[in-house]
Amino acid sequence: MLVQNSLSEVLRAREELFSKTNWTDPTSQLQNRVKGEELARYFLLTESEILGIQNTIRLLVSTTPYYLSLSDPSDPNCPIRRMIVPTSDESIFSEEESPDPLEEERLSPVRGLTHMYPNRVLLFSNHSCSVYCRHCMRGRKVSSSDERMEKADLENAFDYIRKHPEVDDVVVSGGDPLNLADSRLEWILKELNEIPNVKICRLGTRNPVTLPFRITNEICKVIERFNDDNLSIFCNTQFNHPRECTKEAKDAILRLLRVGVSVGNQAVLLKGINDDEEIMLDLHKKLLEMRVRAYYLYDPELIPGSRGFRTPLARGIEIVEYMRGKIGGMGIPHFVNDLPGGGGKITIGANWYLGYHPKTRQHAFRSAVTKRIHFSFEPVGSNRESYYPIISDSEWEKFQNQ
Ligand code: SF4
Repeated sequence: MLVQNSLSEVLRAREELFSKTNWTDPTSQLQNRVKGEELARYFLLTESEILGIQNTIRLLVSTTPYYLSLSDPSDPNCPIRRMIVPTSDESIFSEEESPDPLEEERLSPVRGLTHMYPNRVLLFSNHSCSVYCRHCMRGRKVSSSDERMEKADLENAFDYIRKHPEVDDVVVSGGDPLNLADSRLEWILKELNEIPNVKICRLGTRNPVTLPFRITNEICKVIERFNDDNLSIFCNTQFNHPRECTKEAKDAILRLLRVGVSVGNQAVLLKGINDDEEIMLDLHKKLLEMRVRAYYLYDPELIPGSRGFRTPLARGIEIVEYMRGKIGGMGIPHFVNDLPGGGGKITIGANWYLGYHPKTRQHAFRSAVTKRIHFSFEPVGSNRESYYPIISDSEWEKFQNQ
């Protein structure tokens, strides 16, 4: 039975938690994480949230004090709170959902490694994270101690990569690889650096968002040591809302940039959190100010209990369409769907290209800036006309009279 506190008790509990946490020390932040039913001390919970905490069918519930401090204790619609606190939606497993919609396990030749694309593999380095995001698409593995990757598992994964010279790009994710001890991450990077075919390593981490103090000078030095002529290290993170773009987050990004690691953002489109044109534009403007380039905007996966987060596919298309022309291309993410069944990612976008009119040898395009139709010629002698969708004479006429 969860005991509900008054707002003043909640605010006092927050103050106590924040003052006992050594704020910039990642270990202290992790030691003082708020877990499961303890959330009742720090939020005025709704009935739906109480049910969600008690009955979630997904990953564990936990947040750092830092990330908690970005949330609103009394507003159940607060975007940060929605990513921390489960609701009753998380206890419903719909028929169309699956714990592993991308079939990563089927595509896993050795424990903890998924080989979906010809030249790229996903290495699941660990099962823990600083905050357990309610929309996490790897809830089947993340936070479960059964999924712990032992050294021998990682060695098998390295062997597999070594024996597959076509693999030149390794995504290290989890869990969050920056939740590993420095020494373990150092070993992983050293191993990857020494495999001749591996040229690219991408660290997938949400720590810049949920625990920016984890991006210490020490871990940056480790990364810098292996970010060399043999191996190029990138970092992809996941800011989902402008409220996450804090001074602390920017400082963490700058520390990564100083060791030559550029940071890209893989936002997830989340109902009631960021499924709004202005919020998404603001987020990506703030990210550019933090020197983070837009990379992806994910259509959320059909994972168990995800109904509270999913939006119609059209929302992602509309939002990215809206952004075009209002922010430089570096700030516009590719809206992607990671196809169920292991089909890999595809990009989905607004239709700016309207087609080709053979008689005039012209293509027609919609402009994001003028909102008008613009035209451009196919080269003389081109033999690619059959490649394009054809514009009929009557449609062409309409375009001319716009
Ligand atoms: S940090 Fe990433 S892996 Fe961890 S819970 Fe959040 S989304 Fe999932």
